[in-house]
Amino acid sequence: MAYQTINPFTNQLIKEYPSHTQADIDAALEKAHALYQSDWAKGEIDQRLPVLHKLADLLDQRTEELAKIASEEMGKLIAQSRGEVQLCAQIARYYADNAKQFLAPVRYPSDLGEAWVEHHPIGVLMAVEPWNFPYYQLIRVLAPNLAAGNPVLVKHASIVPHCAEAFEHLVREAGAPDGAYTNLFISSDQVSAIIEDDRVQGVALTGSEKAGAAVAAQAAKNLKKSTLELGGNDVFVVLDDCDMEKAVKVGVQARLQNAGQVCTAAKRFIVHEAVADTFLEKFRAAFEAVKLGDPLDESTTLGPLSSADALKTLTEQVNAAVEKGAKVLTGGKPVDHKGNFFEPTILTDITRDNPAWFEEFFGPVAQVYVVNDDEEVVKLANDSHYGLGGAIFSQNIERAKRLASRIETGMVYINSLTDTAPELPFGGVKRSGFGRELSDLGIKEFVNHKLVVIS
Ligand code: NAP
Repeated sequence: MAYQTINPFTNQLIKEYPSHTQADIDAALEKAHALYQSDWAKGEIDQRLPVLHKLADLLDQRTEELAKIASEEMGKLIAQSRGEVQLCAQIARYYADNAKQFLAPVRYPSDLGEAWVEHHPIGVLMAVEPWNFPYYQLIRVLAPNLAAGNPVLVKHASIVPHCAEAFEHLVREAGAPDGAYTNLFISSDQVSAIIEDDRVQGVALTGSEKAGAAVAAQAAKNLKKSTLELGGNDVFVVLDDCDMEKAVKVGVQARLQNAGQVCTAAKRFIVHEAVADTFLEKFRAAFEAVKLGDPLDESTTLGPLSSADALKTLTEQVNAAVEKGAKVLTGGKPVDHKGNFFEPTILTDITRDNPAWFEEFFGPVAQVYVVNDDEEVVKLANDSHYGLGGAIFSQNIERAKRLASRIETGMVYINSLTDTAPELPFGGVKRSGFGRELSDLGIKEFVNHKLVVIS
């Protein structure tokens, strides 16, 4: 697929980026592997951490410039793009400050003698990343692995080459040595060949189930470790004792931020019958008050979808859901306007035989289900192929905690949308993938936990 910047607000082609050649790939692998074998990667962590400190500072200083590139390339509202860049700076700084402690040897009391586990890098990693958080997805892989000493090759999504290039330049400017981080404009087939290469020891993918299955199969065939951060169909539970104003306000944000294109967006709203009418009335009013427009205009509250393809897929999904009996409370179709806009949409009356029940809608479309009690909440929440995040709104924290521990996902937030922070593990179960990014868990995915025993 060609790497192109197409502005999703105007649908204008801004720039095409030439693909990397096989010779470029060979050179990138060679440099990355040479770096892995060097003292920089295998030696003291203190020599690597200054790159992350500097990267954090550069991300802070260049927030405006980087945010504009993202908003023009994939349609994110400018304020949200700024927020993403600042989060990236926090992640870089978090690993700069904490990686040494995370990778310090851990003692294991044992009858066999004095024992400890050291943490060593394992080699070159291949990362495959999506466009929806075009910098955050990159730093989630780069920051912990640069600290750990694993060189990273990246194939970014083909619709965000400008972000990919800008990020690579920044990492270079921060002082990363040759081979520490290499962006490659390459095809899926070329990713597959890279995974086969003996110098590559791990693969991290964030994206769709289809891409995840292909990449994980290739990794498994070559006996290499993989982590997968895939799709989600997260619930947003509105209980009868919740703070309704807050639940509505956060619910709207949880469904519409980034034009609904977030893996952990609230996609299935499960509402207690006693408050269903009130919730629906307020939720609908908030959806209808949204201001669509240019992502660079500070007053816009909903931007376009990232591509014409994304708009087509979402339109087909909504049409199929309605054909199978779903009711449209508001919205329901593309906006008759330039750019890839879809109306903020609320669907109700979705039955289990409707394909929408199990599908992830990657856009501003909320599904609402009404339930009678907490047992039904759990049953409905867990009737999903996915298991990424989820949110529960209730003023009875004990009740919310009981529900949280019964929901089969990697993350549950109480009285908040599913969020992310450098210090909190991020990831899912079931078809949402495996492994964790961020926090102390993220940095330990691709290290050799080496046991040493003195008897
Ligand atoms: P996608 O099509 O899977 O694309 C993601 C990345 O995978 C892109 O770089 C894409 O390249 C590449 N790719 C696609 N097929 C591949 C293959 N067979 N082999 C190697 N690479 C391949 O995903 P998307 O639909 O654009 O992104 C949205 C999905 O990502 C949603 O399901 C969303 O929930 C999920 N997501 C998950 C998380 C998380 O942390 N769990 C975060 C964000 C998004 P091209 O662009 O060249 O096709």
